[in-house]
Amino acid sequence: MDNKNRIYFDNAATTPVRKEVFDEIRPYFTELYGNASSIYEIAHQSQKAMEKARRQVASAIGARDSEIFFTAGGSESDNWAIKGVADALSNKGKHIITTKIEHHAVLHTCEFLEKHGYDVTYLPVDEYGLVSVDELKNALRPDTILISVMFANNEIGTIEPVAEIGKIAREHGIYFHTDAVQAVGHVNINVNDMNIDLLSMSGHKLGAPKGIGALYIRSGVKISNLIHGGGQEKGKRAGTENIPGIVGLGKAIELAVSEIDTENERLIKMRDRIIESITSSISHSRLNGHPEKRLPGNVNISFEFIEGEGMLLLLDNKGISASSGSACTSGSLDPSHVLLSIGLPHEKAHGSLRLTLSRNNTMEEVEYFLKEIGPIVERLRQMSPLYEEFIKNNRAV
Ligand SMILES: *Cc1c(COP(=O)(O)O)cnc(C)c1O
Repeated sequence: MDNKNRIYFDNAATTPVRKEVFDEIRPYFTELYGNASSIYEIAHQSQKAMEKARRQVASAIGARDSEIFFTAGGSESDNWAIKGVADALSNKGKHIITTKIEHHAVLHTCEFLEKHGYDVTYLPVDEYGLVSVDELKNALRPDTILISVMFANNEIGTIEPVAEIGKIAREHGIYFHTDAVQAVGHVNINVNDMNIDLLSMSGHKLGAPKGIGALYIRSGVKISNLIHGGGQEKGKRAGTENIPGIVGLGKAIELAVSEIDTENERLIKMRDRIIESITSSISHSRLNGHPEKRLPGNVNISFEFIEGEGMLLLLDNKGISASSGSACTSGSLDPSHVLLSIGLPHEKAHGSLRLTLSRNNTMEEVEYFLKEIGPIVERLRQMSPLYEEFIKNNRAV
């Protein structure tokens, strides 16, 4: 099967660059190659394009242009926000609050800081993946300098109570960072209404190229510089700017935000069709994540008695790309930390399937997938010793 006919349901992993975005950035690889720091005309054009993109990104989240700093992606933004604040405020305190379900770009950064004398509280979440605001309040200490809670989870799609968390952070004079990589372009965000001080985003999750992202830093927030060198990004993040990436990020965010309502309506229809069809027709399947406070394009379902990898391989044979929280696909011996945090036992976490939809997907693709998934689950269960045992035990009673 060629790539054109493939069904791509892994948009939380990455997305193709949108045609409109590609067209916009193309000249910046060839004719418009100027270094934005130089003083001749082609340099001015790069400079102007970059400032336009900064406006586009800023207005997507209700920020000021001067509060947007371009980075090389979501991981870099997360690292900068957390290490930068930790370093700048080390005299004030060394306690950070985050959650157990963050992306590894946040979790591993916090673990790194723990080795350097910082204290980190990892808040638990409920069965839906929601952080409790009361637990957050209880975790606050006089030496707490930063709260980092993701806007929406990349595995189970749960949308966190960001505005409530922001309010608490502001009342206590503590900086609030949110990893909004999965939320930007799908959820309406206003950094002022939500009292967000730092916000991470990434281009390749919303139709811009890989290797570009941004960190919103509220004016006045104390944060150490990330890359020392030239004066780019006000000297905070030195290095000649990735103009094609920056132009692409601006265009992609502007498009995504302008389409948010119509696109979400379409995605929710497809998402709910999949969830309803599977949970009603396939026994021992359950939805992971919150049923309503959920990203419009996220489906995450656990199938008992089977392994995620098996499902992914058989789906791949049918031309469908998806993802799982099972151990083999998470790159470690343990299944997804997110699925374990919402209380799934190991075996149910292993049998999880994540589908993440985007503007490129259609209801026709959804129906094709629904036709294929039942027989695939059935086939894997027929080969599963766990399932055999379950049937035997059930017959006995
Ligand atoms: C993808 C992702 C990241 C990392 O972004 P990159 O641009 O790939 O570095 C961080 N956080 C979340 C929630 C993500 O989904």
